[in-house]
Amino acid sequence: MDSSNYLRIKNKIPLNVKILAVSKGFKSQEIKTIHNIGQNDFGESKFQEAFEKQLILKDLKKIQWHFIGRLQSNKIRKIVQNFKYIHSVDSFQKLQRISNISFEEKKTPLIMLQVKFSDDPTKGGFNPQFLMEKWNEIKECKNIILKGLMTINPKGLSSRENSELFIKCRSLADSLDLPDCSMGMSGDWEEAVDSGSTWLRLGTLIFGDRSK
Ligand SMILES: *Cc1c(COP(=O)(O)O)cnc(C)c1O
Repeated sequence: MDSSNYLRIKNKIPLNVKILAVSKGFKSQEIKTIHNIGQNDFGESKFQEAFEKQLILKDLKKIQWHFIGRLQSNKIRKIVQNFKYIHSVDSFQKLQRISNISFEEKKTPLIMLQVKFSDDPTKGGFNPQFLMEKWNEIKECKNIILKGLMTINPKGLSSRENSELFIKCRSLADSLDLPDCSMGMSGDWEEAVDSGSTWLRLGTLIFGDRSK
């Protein structure tokens, strides 16, 4: 694998924007290659696949693992035990479950709440209105640190449509006083940066094509 894409993006983005290298579908050796040039944050979307790589890479103490996949209730304990960040908390029920389990496990994961700004039936996420109404209850959840919002735009949008959805996410985060927005992937990261993203989730752009 060639690290030039990673370095090119790294040099293009403002310092307050962080890169989450999405390593799902790639091997621990490829994670090592990117880690060796200074990347510490890695994102995975399936627990079992991630856990195998975490075991292989356990001596690399600077790596921080982020869970970005759909949260199955029966995997939440293992995710709380093994990930520092969870970006994909898409319902109040799951947030409460994470909070309760984190208390039992003496952990305090950093949380991004996934929000849905368009009617995409293939994606989960909080409805923005519901999130605002529920906010006082959400804030009371123990043993978690609410860091920000996460959103995934539908495929096939124009650059302008992507920006519009990202700007909605940024304004909602601002109105809730949340510092982070996890938004922007390989195809729409430039719009996300311009709209106030603080975490770009980049897979293909860094590691290449997952189908290889
Ligand atoms: C796979 C994935 C990414 C990275 O996608 P690329 O298009 O490869 O950059 C980002 N976010 C989530 C939630 C993902 O599942």
